[in-house]
Amino acid sequence: MNAPVETILRTTRQLAAAGLIGDDPAVDRVAARYAVAVTASMATVIAAEGRDGPVGRQYLPTAAELTTTADEVGDPTGDEAHSPVKGIVHRYPDRTLLMPTNVCAVYCRFCFRRERVGPEAGALDDAALAAALGYIEGQPQIWEVVLSGGDPLVLSPRRLTHIIASLERIAHVATIRIHSRVPIAAPERITDAVLAALAATQKPVYLVVHCNHASELTKAARAALRRVREAGVTVLAQSVLLKGVNDTEAALENLFRGLLSAGAKPYYLHHLDPAPGTSHFAVPIARGRALMKALRGRVSGLALPTYILDVPGGSGKIPLGPDHILGVDGGATLVDGLDRRTYRITPRESTSDGSH
Ligand code: SF4
Repeated sequence: MNAPVETILRTTRQLAAAGLIGDDPAVDRVAARYAVAVTASMATVIAAEGRDGPVGRQYLPTAAELTTTADEVGDPTGDEAHSPVKGIVHRYPDRTLLMPTNVCAVYCRFCFRRERVGPEAGALDDAALAAALGYIEGQPQIWEVVLSGGDPLVLSPRRLTHIIASLERIAHVATIRIHSRVPIAAPERITDAVLAALAATQKPVYLVVHCNHASELTKAARAALRRVREAGVTVLAQSVLLKGVNDTEAALENLFRGLLSAGAKPYYLHHLDPAPGTSHFAVPIARGRALMKALRGRVSGLALPTYILDVPGGSGKIPLGPDHILGVDGGATLVDGLDRRTYRITPRESTSDGSH
């Protein structure tokens, strides 16, 4: 494959010129429907691994995206039903999403917001952003604000500083969380000005970085994560379980170990949301649970995320943890041990009279 020359490849013509895809009119139709962007950093990894490698599959458009299934919906997590103001999704009482932009540095082929994100989708204008911040100010039960999108870290440092400084002034907002793919896919965008924006608050800031395969953890990405941590931000990670990308024990183990050693604690492993044209990435829940169960015995608990399902329609997130409880026998609980033996745990008889 040729080395990519453009900073960001946004069209099938550019991807083909870089040797990352072939000529296929069906892929042109995909790109006309869903946004495409591959950064230089990710293009370099794809060029080294091949277009069918775990990174290429995440970013390169394919004809498979033209196949839709009956269960797929444009808004699989039901965001619209919980949006009282443009740019706000307020599903849980104590926290809200603030989505200041629908633009991303890259466009993932499995994105659950793929009907909404894209370079043309733009950012909130000044009035809409003021209204969204005003909504947060007027809801004293909002304790945590999650900046999502799109990708909040594609905003200008000035815009980002304005948002974070505004949240700093809202007394009932105790903590700020940022969901971003930028440190992984476009690490050069983690500049001093962006780090200064993240420091425009005394409140704790958590960055939840989106990463699905250890190959995405390039030297530059690790350096970007280190700079974020050095700026006083706690870094977590979220991943999506994807067929052909990370649906093996080895791939997940390498990913979770890689993230933890890069200073990003794995937080969530998402079950794939049924967004249009994504069924080729779907992994059965039973497989996901079996993978997590297999990893429990051999990977540090600190490296293991919670396997989570966003119930279609918007009722919220449900943990899909591996189940080690086999049943109840009399008063005893039967537990499936990591050594595959069954343990019988009987209730402990208390002899205490309750005093200390
Ligand atoms: S970076 Fe996030 S919001 Fe943007 S396309 Fe990828 S998954 Fe979707």
